[in-house]
Amino acid sequence: MQWRGRRSSSNIEDRRGGGARRAGGGLGIGAILLFVASIFFPQYVPLLQMVGLGSGGGGGGGSTYTQGNGVDDDHSKFLGVVLADTEDVWSTIFQENGARYQPPTLVIFDKRTTSPCGPASTGSGPFYCPADKKIYIDPGFYDVMARRLGAPGDFAQAYVVAHEVAHHVQNLEGTIPKVDRYRRSVSKTEANQATVRLELQADCYSGVWTNRIQRGKQVLDEGDIQEALNAAFQIGDDTLQGRSGGHVDPASFTHGTSEQRVNWFYKGLRAGSIGVCDAFGPNYGDL
Ligand SMILES: [Zn+2]
Repeated sequence: MQWRGRRSSSNIEDRRGGGARRAGGGLGIGAILLFVASIFFPQYVPLLQMVGLGSGGGGGGGSTYTQGNGVDDDHSKFLGVVLADTEDVWSTIFQENGARYQPPTLVIFDKRTTSPCGPASTGSGPFYCPADKKIYIDPGFYDVMARRLGAPGDFAQAYVVAHEVAHHVQNLEGTIPKVDRYRRSVSKTEANQATVRLELQADCYSGVWTNRIQRGKQVLDEGDIQEALNAAFQIGDDTLQGRSGGHVDPASFTHGTSEQRVNWFYKGLRAGSIGVCDAFGPNYGDL
């Protein structure tokens, strides 16, 4: 991806260089945590479910943290440019639909920090917190993607940002609160299936975003699309469960199979329009 020298978003909150100094607990009430990495690290799934049910965290008083130390490195520049690209694309799409896009803030942290959705760590992976409309990313996670998950490349990294921004879009559209309510009223398996649909729609939106930045700015390099498709494949539930040596249990899927993730990304990519990202279908009409 050609990103050097392009506009960087100002909606970046750099918490590195001191990290989070806990002065209180996270809240985690009523929030759906949408870790990309809850599936990268299956051991974190119980945490996800706990917080997702609204019982996570505790304590009050908020939290304080030191502001970034001004480290002006490639990670923050890259993330700033990708975030700016999401702002441009989603502002246009919202405008096309007669609405105004409110961009999220992207928090860059180092090892750990706090969020209203609970604590964040490198291991928990990137996620979007609907409660404060912020995306949390530790750039160290990109090493994990490249080395442990077989998903290298700058556009694989851009796809992760695009996916989390897609959750923000779903939040603005009211889909996340709807799915959250639905999940509370159904069985565990049905709740997981609704989460899968939310994730596949986010992958489709990521494909739409990819289409739009390429059409509008021609910033993709050869191999970029392949990097994103490969990342989507590598983080499919079946592939991750298989890699971890465990038994593959479709009822526990929360993000979709590799094939589904690739297909939904590709669907959005081909169309360049969110109309095709109808992952919920008629059965979810009463969400
Ligand atoms: Zn997600």
